[in-house]
Amino acid sequence: MIVHLDQIPEMGFQVPELGDWAAAAVGLVLEGHAERVDGELLLVAYGDEIRVTGYIAAVVRRPCDRCAVDLVVELEGDVDLHYVPAGSREGEECGALHGSELEIGFYADGAIDLASVVGEYFALGAPARLACDVPGARVADGESCGALKEGVEAKKPVDPRFAALAGLKLDD
Ligand SMILES: [Zn+2]
Repeated sequence: MIVHLDQIPEMGFQVPELGDWAAAAVGLVLEGHAERVDGELLLVAYGDEIRVTGYIAAVVRRPCDRCAVDLVVELEGDVDLHYVPAGSREGEECGALHGSELEIGFYADGAIDLASVVGEYFALGAPARLACDVPGARVADGESCGALKEGVEAKKPVDPRFAALAGLKLDD
């Protein structure tokens, strides 16, 4: 779904629905089949900068990255992405953008492709490894997953930051 900058009214453009184009984008990025993608996205233009806010929820079916069992993974979260025209910020000192948590993307030819926005959101926000131990993942056929069982034993590894503390001996 393509939205041109001049199609965005002052009050913002509410994306009517995340349809097949969104499911296709999510499936591509997460290397699986998106069974459902929904959410609400609002586009607001500030000059030539387009801010995309809202939330997205997706249900993706794909093999576990660790044990290859068929997984159904539910992912959702808030969206806050910013897009500027491609090439427009080259060589520019954009101090306001640096040092912030903002994710900046680019759009070309005066139009933003929402499929890329949705894809980018999951590319940035999904766990790097979609395995059976990530939150929101379950084994599709309900059978147990070997790696998951092993994972239970090894569950709750000591946070490396705390492990360092645990090694400390306090002298009093
Ligand atoms: Zn697994």
